[in-house]
Amino acid sequence: MENFKHLPEPFRIRVIEPVKRTTRAYREEAIVKAGMNPFLLDSEDVFIDLLTDSGTGAVTQNMQAAMLRGDEAYSGSRSYYALRDAVKQIFGYDYTIPTHQGRGAEQIYIPVLIRKREREKGLNRQKMVVFSNYFFDTTQGHSQINGATVNNVHVSEAFDTGVYADFKGNFDLDKLEQGILAVGAEHVPYIVCTITCNSAGGQPVSLANMRAMYDIARKYDIPVIMDSARFAENAYFIQQREPEYRDWTIEQITYESYKYADMLAMSAKKDAMVPMGGLLCFKDNSLEDVYHECRSLCVVQEGFPTYGGLEGGAMERLAVGLYDGMNQDWLAYRIQQVAYLVNGLSDIGIVCQQAGGHAAFVDAGKLLPHIPAYQFPAHALACALYKVGGIRAVEIGSLLLGRDPKTGEQLPCPAELLRLTIPRATYTQTHMDFIIEAFDQLKSTASLIRGLTFTYEPPVLRHFTARLTEV
Ligand SMILES: *Cc1c(COP(=O)(O)O)cnc(C)c1O
Repeated sequence: MENFKHLPEPFRIRVIEPVKRTTRAYREEAIVKAGMNPFLLDSEDVFIDLLTDSGTGAVTQNMQAAMLRGDEAYSGSRSYYALRDAVKQIFGYDYTIPTHQGRGAEQIYIPVLIRKREREKGLNRQKMVVFSNYFFDTTQGHSQINGATVNNVHVSEAFDTGVYADFKGNFDLDKLEQGILAVGAEHVPYIVCTITCNSAGGQPVSLANMRAMYDIARKYDIPVIMDSARFAENAYFIQQREPEYRDWTIEQITYESYKYADMLAMSAKKDAMVPMGGLLCFKDNSLEDVYHECRSLCVVQEGFPTYGGLEGGAMERLAVGLYDGMNQDWLAYRIQQVAYLVNGLSDIGIVCQQAGGHAAFVDAGKLLPHIPAYQFPAHALACALYKVGGIRAVEIGSLLLGRDPKTGEQLPCPAELLRLTIPRATYTQTHMDFIIEAFDQLKSTASLIRGLTFTYEPPVLRHFTARLTEV
C-alpha cells in the first residue's frame, strides 16, 4: 500500500461502545453542575473523551484471549512467569515485580532508594535531590513526600511551542552533571529517565542522550530508573529520527534503550495497552538489596510479589500487551493520527506544541491572551471545548501546577497548555476532523471566553476536584 497518501486505521473494530449525542444547552448545564471542571463530568455526558490515554484504549484480540489463560494461584502463578519472561526478552531485565499501576511501582522503589542512602551514608533526606528530564506528577509527588527535592533538567527548547527539535524530551546533560556536583553525588539517590517525556508533550529522548546520561550516572554511582510508560512510542521516534537506528526494529531499539538504566518502572496503561497494570523491574543483581526490600514492601502495599495487585489473567494480558504495543504499523498509525490532529489544528491557526506521541497540546495562552494565568486560560478553553463539541480535554498549566507550598502563591507556569490525549485505537480520523471543526468554531468567539475563579480549592492536587465559576 506504498502508493496511498493516507493509510486508514490498521485494524478492524469489532466491539461497539455506544456514546450519547447531547445538545449545547445540555452541555452548558452539565459543565456548570460539574463546577466548571471536566474531571467532574460524568463520562456518559462526554462525546469524545480526550482526558487521558491511560487505560482508556482498545485491547487486541491476542490480549483478550490471553486473559483466559490466567493462573490465579496466590503465589508462583504460571501467569507471573509469562510476564517475567516477556520482560526478560523485551527489556533484558532479570527481576520483575508486578504492580497495580505505575504509581504502585513508585510507592515501592522511591522510599526504598531514599532509605538506602540514609542508611548507608548517614544522610538527611531533606538534603536529597533527585533529577529527571521531567518528573511525571506522581513520580514527583512520591519523591517529595519522601523528603527529596525534585529537579527537572530538560533541554531549553522543551516547552517552547515555537521551536522544532527532534528530541525535545532530552536531558540537558550539563545541567544534570552541574546539578549533581552542586548538591554532592551522595545526596542524589536516583535519576529518572522519563520516556517519552510526558510533561513536555510526549517528546522523545534519543538513544545518544540516554547513553550520555547513564555515563554520568555511573560516574557518580547513582541508580537510573527508566520511567517507561511510553517506551514503544519513544523507540518509534528514535527509529524515525536518530539516523544510526533507521534500520533497527522497534524491538531492537527497545532492548538497546534499557541498557542505559538499572531499573524500570512502568505504567502499563499506556504503551502496554492494558486497562490496569504496572511493573517494577531490575536489570541484574547489582541492586539486589533494593530488589529484596522492594519485594517486602510490595507484600504490604500491592500484594504478594508474584501478583502485585494483578489477577493472573491481567498478568497474561500484560505479557502480550508489551509485545503488541511494539507493532511497527500500529505505532506508525498512532503517531500519524496525533500528527494529523496537530497539523489540522495548526492549519486553522491554533498554535500547538510539535506533535509528540500520545496527545496534541494546544497553546491556550496564545489563543486566549486576554485571560491571565491566575484565571486559568487552558482550563477555560477546556470548558469551552466541552460546550462546543462535548469533547473532554485536560489543562496542563497553572491550575495543575498549583501554589508554592511555602508562600501559598500561584507558581509561575512556563506554558498554559490544553492536552487532547488520544486513546489507542478508540477514535477514528472522522473524530479528529470533528475536533478540528470544534476548534474552528471556538476560534471565532475566543475573545468571549471568560477566565475562571475558584468556588472550592482543595489544598493538594487541586485540579482533580476543584470547583470554579466564570469571572
Ligand atoms: C502514567 C504515568 C505514571 C503513573 O502511572 P499510573 O499507572 O497512572 O499510576 C508514571 N510515569 C509516567 C511517565 C506516566 O505516564
